[in-house]
Amino acid sequence: MSLLFGTAGTPHSSGGTDSISGVRRVHELGLGCMELVFVRGVKMGEKTARTVYDIAKQLGIRLSVHAPYYINLNAEGATLEASKERILASARIGQICGAKSVVIHAGFIQKFPRYTVYERIKKALIEIRDKLVSEGVNITLRVETMGRLSQFGTLDEALSITEVDGVLPCIDFSHLHAVSGKNNSRDEFASILSRIEEKLGRKGLDDMHIHVSGIDYSEKGEKNHLLFAESDFQYNELMQAFVEFDIKGMVICESPNLEDDALVLKREYRKCFDANI
Ligand SMILES: [Zn+2]
Repeated sequence: MSLLFGTAGTPHSSGGTDSISGVRRVHELGLGCMELVFVRGVKMGEKTARTVYDIAKQLGIRLSVHAPYYINLNAEGATLEASKERILASARIGQICGAKSVVIHAGFIQKFPRYTVYERIKKALIEIRDKLVSEGVNITLRVETMGRLSQFGTLDEALSITEVDGVLPCIDFSHLHAVSGKNNSRDEFASILSRIEEKLGRKGLDDMHIHVSGIDYSEKGEKNHLLFAESDFQYNELMQAFVEFDIKGMVICESPNLEDDALVLKREYRKCFDANI
């Protein structure tokens, strides 16, 4: 099994709320990865980041980073610069932690046509990427598929933007479901994975970064995350599609109970995997 399951941030059952306790707890639980959630700002210092790197390496836990929510690359002036700076800070600390990816909510559509937003976000990502390369920071920027059409990040947008070097998608399957109420069956999940393969090739399926949770939604899209048990999201069918396509990478659980639903996913995946061989 080279598909790893883990939590969005430190598991609730950890001894402490810090990332180091989180990595240790993820390992104790038999999970394989964790996302460091810098969603309210990058507050981790370099010294802590180096300790996180050492512990994660020692325990064999893979890491990613979620950049702050307060980012809008479809902006100008100070807002744009501050957004770029938040992504740069996430990437720099993420690299020290040994994370391979930084997940980004790229921006808001506002009053603009979507193609204009696409071009503006693309330009900003190229600038961010150039800066990171010049600093020797080699970390993948992952543009997330979002749960509302008012945000940049349809499946098409998240796949097209990979034309920027060093950018790959973060596929949030729960968001893709919440946007339309569709995308909730094995066939629909399979067609999403097929589109990823068409666009990125087999290597796209071999290096996936995924978010999943239960989710509540309205005709406007995502409302909030739920437990799988309280939600209509068919994670069992998603796990079947994962096995069918033999995808690899990281699956981060964002349900409110974090590790409990991450373990539900891992068990369900294992069941489908064993039934398939
Ligand atoms: Zn996110």
